[in-house]
Amino acid sequence: MDNHETISQSNYESIESLPAFSNKRKGKLMRVPKPIDIKKITLPEELKHVQVPERKNFGLYERYVANFINALELKYPKEYLFHLYQNIKSLEIKAEEIEILRCSGTYSPRINTIALEEESAIYHELLHMATTSSDRKHVGFEYYTLFKSFNRGLNEGYTELLKKRLFPGKKSAETYAFNMTVAEIIEKIVGPKMEELFFKADLLGLIHELTPYSSEDEIMQFFSNVDFINAMNMSYAGSAYPTSLFVRKCANDSEFVKNILSETFNYLTKIYFLFLKKQFNMGTITEEQFLNMQDEFLEEYSLVRYGLSYHFTYDDAYVEQLKASLNKDKKTL
Ligand SMILES: [Zn+2]
Repeated sequence: MDNHETISQSNYESIESLPAFSNKRKGKLMRVPKPIDIKKITLPEELKHVQVPERKNFGLYERYVANFINALELKYPKEYLFHLYQNIKSLEIKAEEIEILRCSGTYSPRINTIALEEESAIYHELLHMATTSSDRKHVGFEYYTLFKSFNRGLNEGYTELLKKRLFPGKKSAETYAFNMTVAEIIEKIVGPKMEELFFKADLLGLIHELTPYSSEDEIMQFFSNVDFINAMNMSYAGSAYPTSLFVRKCANDSEFVKNILSETFNYLTKIYFLFLKKQFNMGTITEEQFLNMQDEFLEEYSLVRYGLSYHFTYDDAYVEQLKASLNKDKKTL
């Protein structure tokens, strides 16, 4: 069960430079250092017998909190709810005006506090709370410290995707449309285990699930690319910021941005096709299914929305090359 511990810290240290970005400084894109101390979260064995803690009443927000806990308890085994039960005891929820446009809520892992401008944002923020480890450094699949964050892009997408799944009537945040698409594709590969890893805040476990299809360096690069696009989108969302003109220009003209988007979708296509090929080699799917599922994937994601008003299409040449190499010799992976 713990075989992903073979991904040691030194593997991360071997990655020389990651183009990781953060928009911590008022929308300005900044390079952040590569993460070197991502830790595997180990949960105690007696967890499965853990009792729901006594908790305070959240007043104005009580019905949302009760609804949230109820939805999670119905859907998931108790061990997934370890962080929820730990954090709910000291959680603070307050109403606050948030300075970022189109951002109606925030969760601060360090102080275990949700700030809400609109009540509708509460379930997304409660999911952040329920997936924050006790060292306060892992929030779902995000690795988080005071001035840097890593893999926020994918984590926001998966958080919003699960919010939609758990509370289907609720509207989704437009800002995270791109992130949700990326998270959805990753989940096609990882399967139901992705929910477990998310609630256990197990980023290493997620990396492990992707290593049959890609090197660790490529995975880290991919996470960084998604972080970059997320930072750009957040800067759009916070268009009151003075840097937004620069970011807009970036999205319209920059070859750099186009390359990052292209790299991201080429990577997703590659790992999904390799995943299909593995299924085919194992006899789980037929040759016909193998070919059809490639086409279905391309059709479904042929025009992926990112940002608030931009679209991205596939790099056709890359896809053709990939299909040719995969279909040529179907028995190798
Ligand atoms: Zn969020």
